[in-house]
Amino acid sequence: MRIVVLAGGVGGARFVRGLREAVRRAPVGSDLAEASIDVIVNTGDDWWLAGLRITPDLDSMLYTLSGQNDEVRGWGRVGESERVSGELQAYGVTPEWFTLGDLDLGTHIARSAWLRSGLTPSEVVARLHERWDLSGVRLHPATDHEIDTHVWVASDTGAEEDMHFQEWWTRYRAQVPALRFEQRGIDLASPSPGALTALDAADVVLIAPSNPVVSIGTILGIPGMRDAVLAAGAGASRGRAPIVGVSPIIAGSAVRGMADACLTTIGVATDAGAVARHYGPRAQGGLLDAWLVGLEDESLVAGLRADGVAADAVPLWMRDLDTAAALADAAVDAAQAAAR
Ligand code: GDP
Ligand code: CA
Repeated sequence: MRIVVLAGGVGGARFVRGLREAVRRAPVGSDLAEASIDVIVNTGDDWWLAGLRITPDLDSMLYTLSGQNDEVRGWGRVGESERVSGELQAYGVTPEWFTLGDLDLGTHIARSAWLRSGLTPSEVVARLHERWDLSGVRLHPATDHEIDTHVWVASDTGAEEDMHFQEWWTRYRAQVPALRFEQRGIDLASPSPGALTALDAADVVLIAPSNPVVSIGTILGIPGMRDAVLAAGAGASRGRAPIVGVSPIIAGSAVRGMADACLTTIGVATDAGAVARHYGPRAQGGLLDAWLVGLEDESLVAGLRADGVAADAVPLWMRDLDTAAALADAAVDAAQAAAR
């Protein structure tokens, strides 16, 4: 079974780590035990800082899957120090609201050097893989084009102004109302070669419980990506791959992070049913064959089924490896049921 996951950073990485564990634990000889995992990772949060290319979601994935992430803080490298960042801030090269760890800077310097030597972002990710053992998971940037997200807000004078997504997210904690998001350059972008190849061969497509706007929304906004997701499995033996989404919203709240602020901007309620309708039932021109909501949201299931989405309520909190693996297992089950 070839599984392709669309994912952002922290929520996406927890889910993919659970999926890898579900594959490990699957009974020998089962479809799942033989599964491959390809992850199409959001690049809309990427930016240039101090001459370095920073790719937060890809790095969350890389560090989480290689066991290098800081579990307590929730992001960055374990055993991190911040001496270099202090120097950069003292020089005024980086803002005081964005700290880069010393070990993390090593990754950014390596990435930037490879980009400057002419490698594409996809080739850089493949190089990073060579060092970190991801135990079979393959990561693909959603696109090799730069599509950094900018956030438009109202200034004090009432005029509209924009800032990089990282400033809005990290400095202002998404507390300044966003008028709209602009993925700069996305019109000219295309899906990365690895993303297209993986989708073509896919048996199952999973949409991770990631931010529906600035993670999944950005991936799907790349021209050609949505069609490639809908056509997933065209090159596979089993034909059209079912698409199963996992809700990032539980009981009306974005459980970790500030996805609610992003949903408000695009006029979608912070509600597991509203996000499912935003992605849309596949039978009505949307994406979803199936959708998993939390046990807290069981009352939404009947309405979603009536709309043509095979909805189910399952434990949605990824508290540890066991709960994340069980959630991933449920998503694969939903895909297998949708394929029948
Ligand atoms: P980011 O790029 O680091 O913001 O991470 P993602 O876009 O992958 O996901 C962030 C979202 O993941 C959060 O806003 C939550 O809605 C969701 N999330 C985080 N932890 C959990 C969890 O344990 N269960 C579920 N269902 N969703 C979660
Ligand atoms: Ca992100």
